[in-house]
Amino acid sequence: MNDNHMMPDRKRAIDRAEHVFYKTYNRYPVIFDHGDGVYLYDSEGKEYLDFGAGIAVMGLGYNDPEYNLELAEQLNKLLHCSNLFYNQPAIDAGEKLLKASGMEKVFFTNSGTEAIEGALKIAKRYAYNRDGRGGHEIIAMKHSFHGRSLGALSVTGNDHYQEPFAPLLPGIKFADFNDLDSVKALVNQNTCAVIMETIQGEGGIYPATEEFLNGVRDLCDAGDMLLILDEIQCGMGRSGSMFAWQEYGVEPDVMTVAKALGNGVPIGAFLARGKAAVAMKPGDHGTTYGGNPFVCHAADTVLRLFEERHILEHVKLTGTYLWDRLEEFAAAHDCVAAHRGKGLIQGLEFDRPAGELVTKALLEQNLVLISAGANVIRFVPPLVITENHVDQMIEKLNQLV
Ligand SMILES: *Cc1c(COP(=O)(O)O)cnc(C)c1O
Repeated sequence: MNDNHMMPDRKRAIDRAEHVFYKTYNRYPVIFDHGDGVYLYDSEGKEYLDFGAGIAVMGLGYNDPEYNLELAEQLNKLLHCSNLFYNQPAIDAGEKLLKASGMEKVFFTNSGTEAIEGALKIAKRYAYNRDGRGGHEIIAMKHSFHGRSLGALSVTGNDHYQEPFAPLLPGIKFADFNDLDSVKALVNQNTCAVIMETIQGEGGIYPATEEFLNGVRDLCDAGDMLLILDEIQCGMGRSGSMFAWQEYGVEPDVMTVAKALGNGVPIGAFLARGKAAVAMKPGDHGTTYGGNPFVCHAADTVLRLFEERHILEHVKLTGTYLWDRLEEFAAAHDCVAAHRGKGLIQGLEFDRPAGELVTKALLEQNLVLISAGANVIRFVPPLVITENHVDQMIEKLNQLV
């Protein structure tokens, strides 16, 4: 079936979509139908090489037979029973997450944003337990992204996202990422936590420097403040370690995870250790869906397959290969201003709007890329990509500039 023949169907479906959806997105004019490995297929059967993974979600790629089988089995067993009772998949997934992170307690959520909400509540509760009063402050970073709910938006350092919804949570102050003095300058006896991404994602793929992360850890220790690391995008193996902070030799008090945790089913989590792990009490927090057996069996399977398939080792090798190829590309093209990242979370900063390149890549090269901020293309492919896929991507990239 040729393209032109099918175009009217696509057009009709997109018109219907625009008619029904609340307009908060400008979508690209493609309808994805199915996926396999690191490829997506649209409604006209066209194949796309995917370097976006549904925004860093599909770590194991699409249509993995073993993952699918596990989900089908759980589907036929039990989907949901509420947190009034126990379920085995949540226990299994929880134990694996604690083992992988060294944290002491986990709470399962439905999304990244909700994991952030829980982390912020731990910080407030921790300081309340300590001081017997509220009114505490949290330090967040400029150009950060933590989600869209009002709490998560309050710590997202982006005026454009925040302004229409002000006033947001009081007592949030923004420091410059990777500038320790700017954090120090905001600390006072009311500060209860510092929250940051270990590698800023939406903000343009900026890894924290060793000096900065270590410095913030020391500040938090000295001031009895919690360090909250948002690993929602950079975690789950993407950096080459299970969690990006594990490359730095510092531990957070609270961390958040989501995106790749369920490989496509909606699940997130916040984890805590030490005093942060017992700050909230029964009744302080809850969720109806969160941690249900279906999503937890997905996460448990993801964590099991990561280990069985040595995903971290694979990411280290493939990430280095991607790094070298993108370095070559950057050196050969003046339009590339910078190259940043680690493992399979890397960014190229261009001298032009990234949106143009993303559109061209999608429609002309059948390559799925996503932007991060105005001028940055972010490379967050399924973690199972091979060097051959990287080569194919670079070839397509060469056609774009
Ligand atoms: C995507 C993201 C979030 C929000 O997660 P949702 O699942 O979209 O709610 C929070 N923090 C970071 C770093 C993210 O990349």
